[in-house]
Amino acid sequence: MKTIYLDNNATSAVAPEVIEAMMPFFRDQWGNPSSMHAFGGEVKKHIDLARSQVAELIHADPSEIIFTSCGTESDNMAIRGAAEALGPRYNIITTRVEHPAVLGPCRYLGERGHRVHEIGVDSAGQLDLVQLGEALRDGPAVVSVMWANNETGVIFPIPEIAAMVKAAGGIMHTDAVQAVGKMPIDVRKIPVDMLSLSGHKIHAPKGIGVLYVRKGTRLQPYMLGGHQEDSRRAGTENVPYIVGLGRAAELAGASIGREMTTVAALRDRLEAGFLATCPDSRVNGDRVNRLPNTLNISFEYIEGESILYMMSDVGIAASSGSACTSGSLEPSHVLRAMGVPFTAVHGSVRFSLSRFTTAEEIEYTLKSLPPIIAKLRAISPFVKKSG
Ligand code: PLP
Repeated sequence: MKTIYLDNNATSAVAPEVIEAMMPFFRDQWGNPSSMHAFGGEVKKHIDLARSQVAELIHADPSEIIFTSCGTESDNMAIRGAAEALGPRYNIITTRVEHPAVLGPCRYLGERGHRVHEIGVDSAGQLDLVQLGEALRDGPAVVSVMWANNETGVIFPIPEIAAMVKAAGGIMHTDAVQAVGKMPIDVRKIPVDMLSLSGHKIHAPKGIGVLYVRKGTRLQPYMLGGHQEDSRRAGTENVPYIVGLGRAAELAGASIGREMTTVAALRDRLEAGFLATCPDSRVNGDRVNRLPNTLNISFEYIEGESILYMMSDVGIAASSGSACTSGSLEPSHVLRAMGVPFTAVHGSVRFSLSRFTTAEEIEYTLKSLPPIIAKLRAISPFVKKSG
């Protein structure tokens, strides 16, 4: 049975062009880019090209791109590196709906003497900017606010937030792991100091990421050792993956228009279809300021996990929140922060599309889900039975 893959915020298929770009660096050009000889030197040129390709996607200067092993490493490097460079006088400000890759290092710093503020969101998942303003008045801060939420797709107003942070003399990091490739991003126009992205969310392989660091930003290197990445991130470069990420960035740049039109239309079709055919369903999060590929929907009074298993049986892959927390059956910290009622948090499912999603797949999903919901409702202890 072919899988209908609607879980692209968890990870995405490696694009065929990316695999093709990577292969020579396993087979033939496997030299060390730091070597003095031409065999290694040739490889270095391809790293430089990939750096330019990634830089172009977010309109950065190539010298501001640092290759890392993943989005999690980029987030840790940004938050811990800035806090360490600036000292404990700096507060840490983040939000209650961040990915664990941001919440983890922020809480770690909290245990080591930094004051940490976690800003709340409203019922649409939008950040409380008044609370953010108050936290910024509490002293200089390293601020980490995600560009778009992985569970709901809600987009935060990063231009406005970054302007507030800079006006208050803070350092601004954004986890743009879910935003990059799904919406235009231009760091020339938005004063973020650091931005994280991850290869496997944009059709490159797992195990490669980037931290963008604006020139002049103070950052204590996190990985110590050799002089790779201009002494900002030691370790022999993962050449094939870097090359793959460069190609993926180029393809992502070329398909942003498609994400915002075709992919958004398919997502909207899915959303409208579910709302029309599944009673007691509700969309979670701001439906306007939202990634074009993401739909987080609750089917009340039933368990998201049961829906996932039954969808999986008919070949549909989706998710009940962040892939990192699923499996624990812990209710989503994002939906809880938004005040989504208990019965709806538990019945939440995230559908995340990609440029490879087809209209036929959406129609199949729309046909397959209502009977699953009806079946689960019939056995749900939470549904009031008539009579
Ligand atoms: N930040 C966000 C918003 C994410 O969605 C993810 C992964 O799901 C990460 C960070 C972590 O990225 P990686 O899996 O590359 O470590």
